[in-house]
Amino acid sequence: MNKTFMPTVNTEEALRQLQLDGLKWTVNHAYEGSTAYRTKLDAAGIGPEDIRSLEDLERLPFTTSQDLQEGYPFPLLSVPFEQVVRMHASSGTTGKRKVLCYTQKDIDDWTHFFARCYEMGGLTREDRVQIAVGYGLWTAGISFQLGCEAFGAMVVPAGPGNLDMQCQFLVDFESTVMCCTASMGLLMAEEVNRRGIGDQIRLKTMIFGSERSSDAMRARIRELLGLEHMFDIPGMTELYGPGTGLDCVHHTGIHYWADYYILEIIDPDTLAPLPEGETGEMVVTTLRKEAVPLIRYRTRDLTRLVPGTCPCGSVLPRHDRILGRSDDMIIFRAVNIYPGQIDHAFSGIEGIGSEFQVILDHRSDGRDYMTLKVERAQGGDDGADDELSRIVAGQIKKQIMVSCAVEVLDYGSLPRSERKSKRIFDNREG
Ligand code: ZN
Repeated sequence: MNKTFMPTVNTEEALRQLQLDGLKWTVNHAYEGSTAYRTKLDAAGIGPEDIRSLEDLERLPFTTSQDLQEGYPFPLLSVPFEQVVRMHASSGTTGKRKVLCYTQKDIDDWTHFFARCYEMGGLTREDRVQIAVGYGLWTAGISFQLGCEAFGAMVVPAGPGNLDMQCQFLVDFESTVMCCTASMGLLMAEEVNRRGIGDQIRLKTMIFGSERSSDAMRARIRELLGLEHMFDIPGMTELYGPGTGLDCVHHTGIHYWADYYILEIIDPDTLAPLPEGETGEMVVTTLRKEAVPLIRYRTRDLTRLVPGTCPCGSVLPRHDRILGRSDDMIIFRAVNIYPGQIDHAFSGIEGIGSEFQVILDHRSDGRDYMTLKVERAQGGDDGADDELSRIVAGQIKKQIMVSCAVEVLDYGSLPRSERKSKRIFDNREG
């Protein structure tokens, strides 16, 4: 029997006890180790001794990305520098970048639960894992690698980009798993198809990081490569990095590592916790993180908790795929729209590709207009374009309650990217 990376507890009760112990430890550790946290907790009138049950979590103040920015360059650090062994940073798209420090134990914990991702995804030590994500300060290809080595599969540390080299590695090294962004996964699938090397490769699984994959994109990649499984791997720099959960082979939602962090879903406006099943903002509290513990950190990511238990029987709870960031939400004619809702609305329609762009304009009549550009499926007939655009507009209207003009373009005419693809173009003023 191979080593397992699954939780040491297997009942809900034991998991809750582990969470309570971790919560007590974290609040005490942050209070003792960080002036910023101590000030925050004192202001909220709550101290380490006040944490007696998991229900006390709700009494703790939120931590926000602003707290991380204000403490730049080393915010919320709760250990002396001599215990820090590494740092990573977010690319800093909004305001200053976020810098996070790690102790050796933090790295070991991260490596352990990242190995769990590969186990959860049904990999074996026979697998060969081509890691085509970035290495360095901004991204954490290194965590994909350390986790894979701890798990015991073979790493092909390819790094991002360079489709020609990636294809060659797939053929020569017979990689069975590829880790990349979903956009790059689609590019690879199209490239393998274009070169006609499908029968020379042994790829059976793709793991997508840093960007959510739409249903249509997954369907297209599956069709081109004949994959057995595709997984979305969640992660953010604030919470270690990638690898904080994975869907199992039943694909009923993302099992998240509740033995390493507590996940709450709150209403982003009222900040009240939401019941299971309702969509809201993810708030995370770490249970073992030393260098930069998180107490009720508001992630801005939107998702929901999946009720019930998974057919796999795991004690680990599930959240749905990330619907988008609350920062990415667009308001169009007084309707709140997340990019994820748009591809979800048209993803089941026959004859449409997976790529799309949304263009928002403010016209001289004083109103806002939305144009949705989609691609015809490969080999599709342009004679059906009018009918297709009518069907797509109808689905958008039905599911998101907004009207839009739909343009159907030739297959392959929207830009492909190896990184995250920009899909929303808001030309309205303000
Ligand atoms: Zn499961």
